[in-house]
Amino acid sequence: MPVQPMELGEFNFAGDDRVVPFQVEGLDVRGRAVQIGPLLNTILSRHDYPPEVARLLAEAIVLTALIGTSLKFEGKFIVQTKSDGPVDLLVADFSTPENIRAYARFDEEALARAIAAGETAPHQLLGNGTLALTIDQGAYMQPYQGIVPLDGSSLEEIAGVYFRQSEQIPTQVRLGVAELFDRDEQGKPRHGWRAGGLIAQFLPDAPERMGQPDLHGGDGDTGASTFDEDDSWSEARALVQTIDADELTDPLIGVERLLFRLFHERGARVFPPLPVYDRCSCSRDRIKGVLQGFSESEIEASLEDGEVAVTCEFCSTTYRYTAEEVREG
Ligand SMILES: [Zn+2]
Repeated sequence: MPVQPMELGEFNFAGDDRVVPFQVEGLDVRGRAVQIGPLLNTILSRHDYPPEVARLLAEAIVLTALIGTSLKFEGKFIVQTKSDGPVDLLVADFSTPENIRAYARFDEEALARAIAAGETAPHQLLGNGTLALTIDQGAYMQPYQGIVPLDGSSLEEIAGVYFRQSEQIPTQVRLGVAELFDRDEQGKPRHGWRAGGLIAQFLPDAPERMGQPDLHGGDGDTGASTFDEDDSWSEARALVQTIDADELTDPLIGVERLLFRLFHERGARVFPPLPVYDRCSCSRDRIKGVLQGFSESEIEASLEDGEVAVTCEFCSTTYRYTAEEVREG
């Protein structure tokens, strides 16, 4: 793949909804960064989620774009939370080569109570539960799933823990979401969303440099760590932590300017961007296939005016079938 060395004043901005892979040779870091605009607005406005829910789902969508675009094979990457809070389910999935879809499930009354009580931090809205990251390579391969507890940390922290535990790769993830209120060309008030994120991973040629101190409470936790982290990774981690949430979403900064600010002294390079699109994988045939597993009494119970109507939770498309279509197989 051709690389583009980063020179100040020569940025070729990838723009929104395009994931930019990058490499920092001097620190043995590889990563990806993205700003998401139109794709996010299409998904969130289709569902008309309350802002508290939209913000959570936006983070999951950014994480999905950052990780999904690293898949080297045909398949799916899925980010899913399951928990006991007002927002009990978030799902975002990426299908190779470039398609993203997402939805959230929430209890309206519980959400209203949480908002009234001012309890709208992510861990208060999600409650206790798990975050699962799944890689699915199709029917003939065993899916791979890593599960980490939602323990009150932010999604970016939980994602970092996942990579550390499951992949043994030192990883820093940053996610940011911004709600925008501005005016369109006619001066009418306009509301929208932007989100952005960056993942940085330490991948030195000598794997022994990737060693990490044990996680607190993990296997071999002696209570006192004498482990020295590799200097390159310490530096990269510290740089990534200096990112403001605003920098992740500001279109005037763009991911290229952000990467330049963070890493130019260490030789940052960017690779050609990978576009992502709001596209669902549902189809009339695929949903019919699911209905054909229904028993006669289930079909009877689902009939309304002689039809079975199914709405895709991801894209809100409604498919209608006659009872005969469902029965015929
Ligand atoms: Zn769909």
